[in-house]
Amino acid sequence: MAVFAPLIAACSSSDPSDVVTADDSTSPAPTKAPAADADAAVSSGDELRWARANLGFVSAYVLARGNSAAIVDTGVDGSAAAIGQSLGSLGLNYSDVEHVILTHNHADHAGSIGAVVAEAINATVYAGEADLGGIDQNPITGLRGGEDVFGFEMIATPGHTAGHMCVIDHSAGLLVAGDAIFGEAGGVIEGPERFFADVDQSRESIKRLAELSFNTLLFGHGEPIEDRADSAVAALAATL
Ligand SMILES: [Zn+2]
Repeated sequence: MAVFAPLIAACSSSDPSDVVTADDSTSPAPTKAPAADADAAVSSGDELRWARANLGFVSAYVLARGNSAAIVDTGVDGSAAAIGQSLGSLGLNYSDVEHVILTHNHADHAGSIGAVVAEAINATVYAGEADLGGIDQNPITGLRGGEDVFGFEMIATPGHTAGHMCVIDHSAGLLVAGDAIFGEAGGVIEGPERFFADVDQSRESIKRLAELSFNTLLFGHGEPIEDRADSAVAALAATL
């Protein structure tokens, strides 16, 4: 039997002041009908769901399967409650979090790591090996790229920082880009060069991302793209 694992776009904001976009209003978090048979029950448990903690100029994300979750990035200092609300929007709480993955060591992505780990007591924490020095958290598992965490592939995307990681769910077609690329005006752009440790390396990383297939793209900075996002990245890569 073919595995059917559609992405449920439960994109929600933890910022009450955030304006609900047209996209949000047409894509409400779906309510599941009772499973008609055992196969349906199995496949619905595997579906990836996600929620965005919109922290203003930066976002963190909760990715969930069944009753388990991974958090990707933790926002600036003081973001743990907002991330907790995002967990709640998926029917989960911090005790359901198995993994906390930091895309890189900047303070707007790793700022709340201590507070998040204090709540997510069952979680293992990961970040790129070359970025570990800039993260005030112990223990933390170093990544080099290629690892499987929670069914996601870790993609080494150095440039913005030396140890930058992107996170992709191949079956759901979802990429969390961190700051490897930025979202702007419904498309993708290179981030501002002044924020990048190595611009040439960053461009090579964008070209690597352009070889992947994904529909949904979640940024550290910018509005999520939820349809054919890989073509936008390929178009950007072709200009580099
Ligand atoms: Zn950054």
